[in-house]
Amino acid sequence: MNGSQNSMTDKTTGVQQIPVGISACLLGQEVRFNGGHKRSRYCLEVLQECFHYESFCPEMAIGLGVPRQPIRLVGDNAQPQALGTDDPDLNVTDALIDSGRNFAASHSHLCGYILTKGSPSCGMERVKVYHPNGNPDGSGSGLFARALMDAMPWLPVEEEARLNDPVLRENFILRVFALHHWKQVVEPEPSFHKIQQFHARYKYTLMAHSYPGYQALGRLLADATAMPLEALMPEYLNQLMGYLKERAGRKSHANTLLHIFGYLKKSIDGDCKQELVDTIEQYRRGEVHLVVPLTLLKHYLKRYGSEYINEQAYLDPYPHELGLRNYI
Ligand code: SF4
Repeated sequence: MNGSQNSMTDKTTGVQQIPVGISACLLGQEVRFNGGHKRSRYCLEVLQECFHYESFCPEMAIGLGVPRQPIRLVGDNAQPQALGTDDPDLNVTDALIDSGRNFAASHSHLCGYILTKGSPSCGMERVKVYHPNGNPDGSGSGLFARALMDAMPWLPVEEEARLNDPVLRENFILRVFALHHWKQVVEPEPSFHKIQQFHARYKYTLMAHSYPGYQALGRLLADATAMPLEALMPEYLNQLMGYLKERAGRKSHANTLLHIFGYLKKSIDGDCKQELVDTIEQYRRGEVHLVVPLTLLKHYLKRYGSEYINEQAYLDPYPHELGLRNYI
C-alpha cells in the first residue's frame, strides 16, 4: 500500500483523513443483538475530522442477523468459546476468530482500530468469561478483537469508553498518527536510511514514553545494517508501537522538555531560560497542562531552534486543534 492510498481527503474541508477501523455500532449503526447501537459522540463529532472510518460488525459479518440471541464467552480465559446465551449449541468461536484474521489480512492499510467495550466479539480486554459454575470473570478479550490484535500487533487499538481518559486518548491518537506517518514516509519506498530518518524524528517522543525503549531501538538500528530490510521493518515497527503504548507521565514529559530546552541554552537570555525552566517545573508539579511549557518552548524553537529539533514529532504529533495536550 503506498502513501497516497493510505489516507483520504475530506472533500469539504480538504483535511487528510487517516483510515481507522471501528466497531460499526459506535457509528450509530443498528447492528447490536437487540437492534440498538452504541453511538459515540466523540468518535463521530471530534475524531471524524481526522479519521476516515472503516466500520465493521463481526457478528453481522458471520451471518448473525438483527435481532439475534446474544452470545457470551464461556470456558477457559485463555481460549474461551463464544456460545449463544439462550442456546449453548450455537457456537460461533471459529467464525469470529476467522473473521478477525480475514479482516486483518485485507486491512493492512489501517492505522488504528476503535472497539466496543465489554463485547464478546469486539471487547479489547476485561470481557466477561463465564466458568462452568456459572460465575463470570472479567479477564477475556472479544474473539474478533483478539484475532485482530494477534494478526496486527503493531496496530494501535483502543476501546471507545477508554477514550474518555485524557492520557489514554492522547496515547491512542499519538500512536495512530505515528503509524500513519510511518506508512507515508517509510513504507512506499523502504530503505535503511528512511527508517533512520523516521527514528530521528521520533527521538523525543520515544524518550517521553519509554527511555529504555529509546535506547533499545537505537541499538536495534545500530546493529541492523546487515539485517534484511524485510525483517527490520516489522521488527522496528512492532517495537516502536509497543514502546509508544507505554504512558508518558509528567516526570518523563518534563525530562523530555528539559532535553529539548538544552538546544536553546545558548540562544536565549537568562530571564527567558528561567521562565522556561519554571514553567516546565510547574508542569512537573501538576500545576499546568503540557500545552503550557510546550507552547513556550515552541515559541523559542521557532526562532532559534535547528531544523532537526523543529522537525521532532514530539512537538506536533497530531493536529493541535484536537486539544489533547490541554488535558494531560
Ligand atoms: S459485534 Fe461489535 S460491532 Fe457488532 S454490535 Fe457487537 S460490539 Fe458492535
